[in-house]
Amino acid sequence: MTQQHQPMWITVHCSATPHSMDIGCSEIRRWHLQRGWQDIGYHYVIRRNGTIEQGRPLLQQGAHVTGNNKGNIGICLVGGCDNKQKPQDNFTLAQRKSLFTLIEQLQQQYNIDDKHVTAHSQWNSSKACPVIVIQSEAERQEANSLLRENV
Ligand SMILES: [Zn+2]
Repeated sequence: MTQQHQPMWITVHCSATPHSMDIGCSEIRRWHLQRGWQDIGYHYVIRRNGTIEQGRPLLQQGAHVTGNNKGNIGICLVGGCDNKQKPQDNFTLAQRKSLFTLIEQLQQQYNIDDKHVTAHSQWNSSKACPVIVIQSEAERQEANSLLRENV
């Protein structure tokens, strides 16, 4: 059963792969299907060259934040680890441009305010994902207090 949802949150992830791995939606979809999921868990994947690929249809609930997928749009940046699988902010400028353009578009389209734009690590502090810092500490704390109410 696929559940429909109204987007309220945007959560940024990374694929935890090294900079040399030029993967996209089809590879990640294959991994997630191998886990027994019905489709790729993310709604968008941003390739190393900045290309934005559509993953799971936007209005279907994703599978990217344990226990908090309802109304949550998942965007995955490809990269985020060094060759030893350690977290590394190795994202390209093209990816960063695409990420923030996409976030802005989704915020406009679904009327999502800045406090609802989060990193995976805000939902689960044991995760380094997505490595990249997407907002100031003050903004992060505001988002954190909102998402605690949601959890
Ligand atoms: Zn993540």
